[in-house]
Amino acid sequence: MEKYKVLESVFGYKKFRDFQEESIDALLGGKDVLTILPTGGGKSLCYQLPSLMMDGVSVVISPLIALMQDQVRGLSENGIEAVTINSDMSDKERQEVFYKLRNGTVKLLYVAPERMVLPSFISFLQTLKVNFFVVDEAHCVSEWGHEFRADYRELYLLKENFPQTPVAAFTATATPKVAEDIQKALRLENPYYSRGKVYRDNLFIHTQKRVSNGRVQLLHFLQKHKGECGIVYTFTRKETEEVAKFLQSKNISARAYHARLDKDVKAEVFHDFLYDKLDIVVATIAFGMGIDKSNIRFVVHTSLPKTIENYYQEIGRAGRDGLESETLLLYTKGDEIQKRELMNNVESVEYQEVLYEKLQKMYRFALSNSCKHKLLGTYFGDVSELCEDKCDSCLKEPVEQKDITKEAQMFLSAIYRTGAKFGQNHLIDILRGSQAAKVLQFGHEKLSVYGVGKEHAKKVWEMIVDRLHELEALGVGEHRSVIMTQVGVEILKGEKSVDIDEDKLGNESYKIEEDAYEERDETFESFRSLRMKIATESDVPAYIVFSDKTLKDLAQKLPQSREEMLDVHGIGEVKYERYGEAFLALSRELGEEV
Ligand code: ADP
Repeated sequence: MEKYKVLESVFGYKKFRDFQEESIDALLGGKDVLTILPTGGGKSLCYQLPSLMMDGVSVVISPLIALMQDQVRGLSENGIEAVTINSDMSDKERQEVFYKLRNGTVKLLYVAPERMVLPSFISFLQTLKVNFFVVDEAHCVSEWGHEFRADYRELYLLKENFPQTPVAAFTATATPKVAEDIQKALRLENPYYSRGKVYRDNLFIHTQKRVSNGRVQLLHFLQKHKGECGIVYTFTRKETEEVAKFLQSKNISARAYHARLDKDVKAEVFHDFLYDKLDIVVATIAFGMGIDKSNIRFVVHTSLPKTIENYYQEIGRAGRDGLESETLLLYTKGDEIQKRELMNNVESVEYQEVLYEKLQKMYRFALSNSCKHKLLGTYFGDVSELCEDKCDSCLKEPVEQKDITKEAQMFLSAIYRTGAKFGQNHLIDILRGSQAAKVLQFGHEKLSVYGVGKEHAKKVWEMIVDRLHELEALGVGEHRSVIMTQVGVEILKGEKSVDIDEDKLGNESYKIEEDAYEERDETFESFRSLRMKIATESDVPAYIVFSDKTLKDLAQKLPQSREEMLDVHGIGEVKYERYGEAFLALSRELGEEV
């Protein structure tokens, strides 16, 4: 079958997305491949589709069992024989898989990197006809990446043991340096290389300085997403529980998820979220890597992520179906300091430096007034497109600027007079004339700057300090102390002035408007209920039955025949055979009502 036919009849899609066809052609032509496509860009299809057109089995190396299981389930739903071998399986289950593989019926085999490098496993694969290897999440190979994994480094063994077999590497996040490293580490030979647009035009990016614990901001944001699915990422396990409790107290469907929870509880939360029975998961970053749920409408970070790679990957979990989705990042300078401290126990000094630098870039990203999508593009080496109205920076009306040179000088002078040995809070205490024990203990009430900044509240001072960080006038010294950079010196000497968006100095207040919710489309909701019923009956996640995008398309087209059904996004023949009749019946019913 030719590829367009497979695309339509098996996967139910009309056309390829950017770079899919080229990657597929390269694999069919026996070439190595390095494809960098954002989350949701459709990487899986790039290797799944050619596997169906080839005789042998394709081997996919993937870091997480949950991820593998999800893929296998999705493929089975489309009538494709896919299997996984992993440590969660019993011996008997594993033997069955080996049997199937020997029989040659399996199209895709998913394994973890640890297994892939076992000599016995390699020998076994050598007895099979392997079309090609796929290294998923390939950035894990690189020490310049954010998720370096030593076992990925061993994957050069693929080329060593299977010199004639193409290797295809896929990842969503790779800076140009990481891409180069992947190519070298996997020993890819003159690969077909493609890098997708970093810009996700269906994601809206908000970043806000966190006010207090950020709960009011969170609630304000969630008002717009009532009844929709989303993830709230928090930094600590304790915070997941606290935030989940807080949301529950506001009658919002939310549950906590973190690595220490009981296995059954974790499975339940995961399951309920997949099946649309739970709207919000409040989680540490332990949650998400295995999630391929396409209808996540929002992602919130309650504190600063460690790297732009993490951040981009996490916000990328929203809107995989291509529909409009929103992201919110809440941050403070304190987050950066706290996370930097945690990196102090990374063993390798070089890797520690890499991580520090990444953290600093993440913080600058959060602070910046430049287009957020453009910043991401630049970071990942793709400046092809700019957003116009998809981030706060771009949407922001020009704001009155207020000159704060005098205040900036006060703060810098406080650093200077105390020997650059103290943290932000202490310096602000001095400026505000605080009687705090630490101020008195060091005799700082005798300094000329003591009390000169009384007129501003602590929050205002924090904003001023953040602005100075943004301008790179400040740095972080030993024991979290704030130090002055060359830019800071210039400001102190009066060679540079400082201004700030006037609105940043006021206290942002968030009113919660109870009835500001968007009305949901009733036709869509009818399809959604049917999907929920079928998903529950067949014990598969709702999005595996049909994606939100398919439901939207159904609601819009209201197909009246099998032919028209097959014209709907995401409905191929196998899916039609499985679920088509029920949806067609509902569609006919709804069509009559119109
Ligand atoms: P990635 O692995 O790159 O994050 P996926 O492979 O999971 O992304 O694909 C994201 C979503 O896009 C899935 O729901 C998938 O079915 C859908 N998809 C992939 N290719 C196409 C296509 N050519 N047309 C329409 N939808 C597609």
